[in-house]
Amino acid sequence: MPRKQAQIRKMRPKMSIRRGDEVVVLTGKDRGKRGEVTRVLPEANRIVIDGVNIVKRHLRRQPGSLQAGIIDMPAPLDRSNVMLVCPNCHRPTREARTVLADGSHVRVCKHCDEVIPTRHDHD
Ligand SMILES: [Zn+2]
Repeated sequence: MPRKQAQIRKMRPKMSIRRGDEVVVLTGKDRGKRGEVTRVLPEANRIVIDGVNIVKRHLRRQPGSLQAGIIDMPAPLDRSNVMLVCPNCHRPTREARTVLADGSHVRVCKHCDEVIPTRHDHD
């Protein structure tokens, strides 16, 4: 039995920030910092940004693990606390969406009207 279109659409997270995007942090101790998105957690509506929101993790020594002690690692931030930075004009922007002639949806910068490219890994 074929799946209904509505169900498929419901499965898709409404998150426009993708891995590889540059973002600027709007709140918290890292406000104003820019970094590259390294992980996206759509279910939690959170993202991990390289070098932002660093927390100390205390790791116990475990068999088979080389890391022990205290390590620094970036913790996930809420998606609403960051803003996408346009790779063309380098300004924080709210992305608009538009449909190209071939029917594909793209993100567009509201400042310079340039298309914000998305890294195609498995999207
Ligand atoms: Zn722009």
